Amino acid sequence: MGAEILTIGTELLLGQTIDTNAAYVAEQLAAAGIDVYWKTTVGDNEGRIGEALRQALSRSEIVIATGGLGPTEDDLTCRVIAAVLARPLVLDRTVLESIRRRFADRGLVMSKNNERQALIPEGATVLPNPRGTAPGLLIPARDGRMVVAMPGVPSEMQPMLTEQVIPRLRKRFEIGARIGSRILKTCGITESQLDEAIGDLARSSLNPTIALLAHPGEIHIRLTVKTKSHEEAERHLDGLEARLRERLGALLYGRDGERLEEVVGRLLLDAGQTVAVAESCTGGLVCHRLTNPSGSSAYVVRGEMVYSNRAKEDRLGVPHELIARHGAVSRAVAEAMASGMREAAGTDLALGITGIAGPGGGSAEKPVGLTYIAIASAEGVISREWRFLGDREINKLLASQAALDMVRRHLMSRRDATLA
Ligand code: AMP
Ligand code: MG
Repeated sequence: MGAEILTIGTELLLGQTIDTNAAYVAEQLAAAGIDVYWKTTVGDNEGRIGEALRQALSRSEIVIATGGLGPTEDDLTCRVIAAVLARPLVLDRTVLESIRRRFADRGLVMSKNNERQALIPEGATVLPNPRGTAPGLLIPARDGRMVVAMPGVPSEMQPMLTEQVIPRLRKRFEIGARIGSRILKTCGITESQLDEAIGDLARSSLNPTIALLAHPGEIHIRLTVKTKSHEEAERHLDGLEARLRERLGALLYGRDGERLEEVVGRLLLDAGQTVAVAESCTGGLVCHRLTNPSGSSAYVVRGEMVYSNRAKEDRLGVPHELIARHGAVSRAVAEAMASGMREAAGTDLALGITGIAGPGGGSAEKPVGLTYIAIASAEGVISREWRFLGDREINKLLASQAALDMVRRHLMSRRDATLA
């Protein structure tokens, strides 16, 4: 039996909006131990929504719908569910009041069509939506089946699903088995190298299973385990994570939602160090990423976007002759950018990044993707040559990733040296 996902919205069929809701709901249900066997998408059409819903109810115990709960004429989900389940729509005064209050809090008057959102199929459980006007609904269907309707806006739907819907479904359908998963994030290693390093574990470990997922500039290792309880799942995952950490050491930079810039930020904070960035080919991306974590003002001091040769000379004191002799994309210039930046900003660390993002500007000697990254610190300047193979935006992203990872490794080796 299991669950079925029904995403509603003509924009999904036209390809204008990517159906991220289906993926999110599927992932969360799987993690909660609820099997999903079907996914359907329909446009904002009363007849077809009804048909899809009837069909879903004929083969699934749980139908989870998103979209079409808004206040406008094309928002039909509620009306169709009421018709298919033969439940009249009734005005829910609590919902109406909360929508009215939401408008009042913003200094607005509720428009008449928002009242439609307070018409609820009789017998439905209302799921409050603190992030929007459309509440979610849990509606019982025949033979103990259940229809769940949630708003289409992902930022409203996601917390409603994880905080309200899934706990109720697990209880109602007495779901015991639980799928736990964990993502370990690596960078600075290719997928084939990673397979060599941990392939034996990946092939022999069945519960948890191990899967490799490649992303630009980083490869994730997903561990998935099926157990009876959350605690047992965590125990299994901890055990396998420890073995992987032993093998991979510093190649593993983080876990689950953690981003590389957050890890770098924490290392900078712990070391009490500050950083400045001089960027050419990345156009400010490294600064942008370094300032993503809240609290980054404790360690990010300054950035210079020095795209032209002139800017490199004027802003960072890179000697004109150096650029003339080696070219703007060279190890010598990356190092001079880093040193010049460090001197100008007075930081503990400074980065210099110069490269050819492409698609133009490459040559046989200096191909597209060639990038030099330097770090200046009290101990001097270190630098590395990189050769990326992506298109322009990917090369920029890969350069930012390499730069952040170089800072991470620099800080880790210093920390380990101090501890030793
Ligand atoms: P609705 O609840 O139908 O009014 O949807 C509101 C907005 O949520 C739409 O305009 C879309 O931008 C977004 N949305 C709806 N369904 C999905 C979906 N399946 N995946 C991602 N975004 C969606
Ligand atoms: Mg819609």
